[in-house]
Amino acid sequence: MPADSVTVTDDPDRQYRTRNGKVPGDLITVTDPETAQRWRLLTDFTSPGESWFVLDQCPGCDAEVPVVRIACLADLGDYLDPDTGLVLVDEAQDSLLHRASCALALPN
Ligand SMILES: [Zn+2]
Repeated sequence: MPADSVTVTDDPDRQYRTRNGKVPGDLITVTDPETAQRWRLLTDFTSPGESWFVLDQCPGCDAEVPVVRIACLADLGDYLDPDTGLVLVDEAQDSLLHRASCALALPN
């Protein structure tokens, strides 16, 4: 995938606490140059630089949530493969990310 297919911008929806106050996280957008399909990724702060979260619609309520953790584009391919069973990451179950009464959200 060419480097210009990947852009990193400030995340308008998520901020993170630092010593100097809150700062926006990185929102990574990967665009397939052939299909123009786009995927949005967040940094996984449990292993920065080694894994990311894929943002996608919650299958229960359509809210955008971090659905799976990936370490490479092959992992993204696995996620997109309809034959792969979807197992949401723990981070996806934060009820604050979902619409009310979504069955996939765990209470805080
Ligand atoms: Zn949901």
